[in-house]
Amino acid sequence: MDNLDLKKIISHCKEYGFVFSSSEIYDGLSAVYDYGPNGIELKNNLKQYWWKTMVHDNDNIVGIDSSIFMHPKIWHASGHTEAFNDPLVDNKDSKKRYRVDTLIEEHVEKIRKKVNKDIDKAEKRFGPDFDRKKYITTNPRIINYENLINKINSKLSKSLERNDLSSLKKMIDDLEIKCPVSGTSNWTEVRQFNLMFSTKIGAISEDSNNLYLRPETAQGIFVNFLNVQKTSRKKIPFGIAQIGKAFRNEIVARQFIFRMREFEQMEMQFFVKPGDEIQWYNHWKNKRMEWHQKLNLKKSEYIFHDHLNLAHYANAACDIQFNFPMGFRELEGIHSRTDFDLIQHQKFSKKKLQYFDPKIDKSYVPFVVETSLGLDRLFLSIICGSLFEEKTDVDTRTVMKFPPFLAPFKVAILPLVKTDELIVNAKKIHKDLQKIFSCQYDEKDSIGKRYRRQDAIGTPYCITIDHNSIKDNMVTVRDRDTMSQDRIPIERICERIKSKLYT
Ligand code: ATP
Repeated sequence: MDNLDLKKIISHCKEYGFVFSSSEIYDGLSAVYDYGPNGIELKNNLKQYWWKTMVHDNDNIVGIDSSIFMHPKIWHASGHTEAFNDPLVDNKDSKKRYRVDTLIEEHVEKIRKKVNKDIDKAEKRFGPDFDRKKYITTNPRIINYENLINKINSKLSKSLERNDLSSLKKMIDDLEIKCPVSGTSNWTEVRQFNLMFSTKIGAISEDSNNLYLRPETAQGIFVNFLNVQKTSRKKIPFGIAQIGKAFRNEIVARQFIFRMREFEQMEMQFFVKPGDEIQWYNHWKNKRMEWHQKLNLKKSEYIFHDHLNLAHYANAACDIQFNFPMGFRELEGIHSRTDFDLIQHQKFSKKKLQYFDPKIDKSYVPFVVETSLGLDRLFLSIICGSLFEEKTDVDTRTVMKFPPFLAPFKVAILPLVKTDELIVNAKKIHKDLQKIFSCQYDEKDSIGKRYRRQDAIGTPYCITIDHNSIKDNMVTVRDRDTMSQDRIPIERICERIKSKLYT
């Protein structure tokens, strides 16, 4: 049973109504996507699960929904107008544009693949006696590759942190990185590119009316900090959560919904007493990893990536990375952002953003620990971890083994054949179950084809109504994962479905 590559995932998502290219009949719009009938069900289930576990299950976290348009000064205060940049470079022959850090990271990925290939070869050669750990730590070729990877990564982080564009250019020259399209190293100088989309508000086009589409949801939380604290009467430590759209004019907008120009974030800002932030950072770091692992995909698919070079406003930061088909990549960021954002907004708005702490009888600007998860990346991780091609006794089936509580539809009701009597009975069962679960009703094609269609969209159970059902009030329940079938009384269908959803 194998996980599938990205190409197969993209075509499956399209064929089964999960994700379409935006404006497809006009040849699409680069890095913008629409969610189809099955996709929106999965997306909504993910949002609801996050909201329940983040807001409803935590007494000290409340939610908000702030607007996408915000006062332009907010983006000066947060540093986005000056520093929300990516370094870009053009290839003069292909005229293609790239993000320099991505080009270098892809180069490192190639070296990593060589390392893995060498290890696989050695494993085959030595057979069961192969000591993987010893081989990695003693083989000179592997050690050289690892040193090279570390050297490149450290140089890249330093150059990005210092905003050193000439050093980045030197890196692509020294590493002899070639354009994947033209195959040449004929690069322009490296330039900075601001990722924010701008637009105008009101009827008169004047400079003062310039607006930005928010590149992150977090600032809507910071500027509402006191409104929320006062109206919800929360005491520190407490958090504010939000789900909403964000927009970034990404330079390298490939890799399907992993990197989009319009996407959704699920963020939570946790306000703490200065000095307590590292303890809370560690708390949320572990909590968020547990949350992902409870989704029941393979635990080894998630790793922490601690940031060694921190942004100027952070005193600790890490990513939770998921093993996407293109390798381990950021899924969620956890950052200890100090009091940077609130202080900046105090400065720019000239309004106090302080909290009076009755425990110490003192006012202060709280420190913030944030958890920032991309909903679309989460969606992709769930699809990548659930979609399999599986050999059966007779053929190969494509099955989406979603965690059952996330599946777009929990159960499909299928009359075995299209006779009036079976259809009436099947529709009655469908109507009853619909009150409790998201259900599908399907009477078209052979039962085998219908099972396969439900496998492909990840429905955990199929209920088949046949002629005997009319006599004995029993139906056949088919399990998506084991494909096993058994007969149960109609009144026990609900209990059976629930047993799978809440385990
Ligand atoms: P990356 O390094 O991949 O560009 P980032 O570090 O800029 O990501 P953050 O600003 O920390 O990302 O945003 C928080 C989360 O939002 C990310 O962990 C990711 O899940 C999601 N995200 C960020 N940019 C995009 C995008 N262009 N498309 C989809 N999701 C995104």
